[in-house]
Amino acid sequence: MVWVVIPMVLFLVLRLGGNFGASERPSEPALAPQPPIPTLYFRSPLGIPLLLAGNFAEMRTGHFHSGIDIKTNNRPGYRVYAAADGWVSRIKVSPTGYGQALYVDHPNGYTTVYAHLSRFKEDLAAYVKKKQYAEHSFALDMSVSKGMFPLKKGEVIAFSGNTGSSSGPHLHFEIRDTASEEPMNPLLFGIPVTDHERPRIYRVKVYAANRESGATIVHSDGSRPIRATFDAPVVIGVVKGKSGYRLKNVKAIRALG
Ligand SMILES: [Zn+2]
Repeated sequence: MVWVVIPMVLFLVLRLGGNFGASERPSEPALAPQPPIPTLYFRSPLGIPLLLAGNFAEMRTGHFHSGIDIKTNNRPGYRVYAAADGWVSRIKVSPTGYGQALYVDHPNGYTTVYAHLSRFKEDLAAYVKKKQYAEHSFALDMSVSKGMFPLKKGEVIAFSGNTGSSSGPHLHFEIRDTASEEPMNPLLFGIPVTDHERPRIYRVKVYAANRESGATIVHSDGSRPIRATFDAPVVIGVVKGKSGYRLKNVKAIRALG
């Protein structure tokens, strides 16, 4: 992908010298060790090489992107496969958001999500239609009991599309921890994404580490220095030279506090 890592966030750590006192920072509770992520369990949800239009945890308006957006050659209708054995646990139909979406629970404690689908496989589609008529509603969000739609890994469950809040045909794919519903980075699970392009940095954001500290950006062109604070970061352009990246028009960054 050409445009990943925009913007890259640079946190300035402004705690210097005597400020490192342990008493200042309450000790954080130890995190429970995380179970290893299974890297051979899930297959690709599509049968075409995976090219991404969107990454996990990208910044979106008001939230982080909770999955990956897989390109589908600018058209709908690609077969979408169950990433592993499991069962349909939730079906969502909405004119906005995920459009037509399927949630599949897997016995290993993860849930896969497939969104913006053009249509569901036949038995699911018939079930959805029946529910829509029964409830007099196009929009649905329903839990499905475990025994209703069991799935085998690689089974066609739906077709890719452009439904809901989608600006072009693609498959939005997520892997969540079933119990907490926390989305995880699908690429950590060994989903084979084709990407031969190195990330490029276009700009960085400078924040102060806390409300008491700050940073002053001193420009090399003589223009007025700008103060970066905890709430108001300063965006600095980055240029790529022969020896690597350098900040555009910046003479110095002075840390305060
Ligand atoms: Zn998406």
